[in-house]
This record gives sequence, C-alpha cells and structure tokens, in this order.
Amino acid sequence: MAYVQRREVLFGLAGMALAQATLGRAGAAFAADKIKPGPSSALIVVDVQNCFLPGGSLAVKDGDQVIPVINRIAKSFENVVMTQDWHTAHHVSFASSHEGKKPFEMIKLAYGNQVLWPDHCVQGTEGAAIAKDINIPQAELIIRKGFHNDVDSYSAFLEADKETRTGLASYLKERKIDTVFVTGLATDFCVAWTAIDARHADLNVFVVDDACRGIDINGSVAAAWKDMTAAGVKKIESSDIA
Ligand SMILES: [Zn+2]
Repeated sequence: MAYVQRREVLFGLAGMALAQATLGRAGAAFAADKIKPGPSSALIVVDVQNCFLPGGSLAVKDGDQVIPVINRIAKSFENVVMTQDWHTAHHVSFASSHEGKKPFEMIKLAYGNQVLWPDHCVQGTEGAAIAKDINIPQAELIIRKGFHNDVDSYSAFLEADKETRTGLASYLKERKIDTVFVTGLATDFCVAWTAIDARHADLNVFVVDDACRGIDINGSVAAAWKDMTAAGVKKIESSDIA
C-alpha cells in the first residue's frame, strides 16, 4: 500500500498537523514513512500457543505464519507483553463441559453468549505452551487469562463477564506505556477483544494485520474489523513498523 493511502487509513482525511499531533500522543514517531515504536510503546503477542497452531486442538488456519512476522517486528520493541490462554481442565468454554453440546455451538451463560470450543490450552499442558519458535527473549510479562473456571476471557484486559480485570491496564499504566501494537491469534476473538479493551483503557492501538490470523466463523473476521475500527483501532501491516 502506498504511503499516502496508508496515511489515509491511519488518519482519515486529517492533514499533516493532526497526524503529527496524533503521533505525539501515540508515543511513536514516523521514521521516513514508517512508525517507530518508542519507550512508551509495547508489542502485545496474543495467544501464540501450540493449541492454536496447525495440528493443535483449536488450530487457526495458517496460525504458524504469524511467528516469523512477530519475531521480526519484536526487534523494534523494548517492551513486549505476551498472553497465554490458560484454562482449567473442565472450563466453561469447552463443549465437553456441557452435555450434548458440540464445538462451535453457542450457549447462553450468566454473562452472555459463549461460543463453545474444543478443549484447548489447559493449564500446564504442552498445548498451552507458547510456540517454541517464538523468539522474543526481551518479553517482560506473560499475562495468563481464562483461568477462572466459569468465565472465559478472550481479552487480555477484561474477562467475559465484563467485570473481572486481568491487571494488564494497570501494569501498562504503571510502566507509562500509552501505545500498544497487537499481534497474534485469533484476529476475530482474542486479538479483537484485546485491541478494543485496550482502546477502552485509553491506549493508542494498532493491530498488525499480517501478524494475525483469524478463525472466521460466519464472517467473524470482517465483523471484528468493523468493531475494532469503530473503537478507534488502527490497522497496519508489519512493513509499516521501522
Ligand atoms: Zn480459550
């Protein structure tokens, strides 16, 4: 995508002055036509775990293809946070926990609709481990989510009951991080919910599209992008990062 087109994506019809003001707030600056993450930026690597890779119990198509992209852009970040889906053995989000239910059916729980999944990312299992090819030694924090048996958590900030917080917003605030770049799996669930909740935490949010892959149930990737865009999440490519 050409620079001018990309700028329009990022900033709508705003002129250069607004673009610069936005970047000032974002804690990131353009070097030539690229975004250079600064000390107030963090890369968030969402759920790049064995269960979500090809061959895993909840494999995301081409999920492994995000790994080299994430490894490459991680070199531009001094701050990196990774997330890990981390479920109990009979978690409420598993179809196997509900008699007669199959994966990908929807049920109604106390906190709202819940998609039922194959068993995945059970605490302490190999499937829950972060992919061995992820190579980001400087990562500072791994935040686990979905560990309450009766509540799912796609978001790295807020569990599905929309009340229970993971602590990530406070962590980023204390670290004086005001801008996050979200990558990982899956675009339409954990990435989207994390990105939208990051906006609710008053962060500037970029989602690096080619560093994500989606599950895409009934157009859920397109719907997620609509929701993310409405929330003020900006879509970029890894080549936009210096
Ligand atoms: Zn899960």
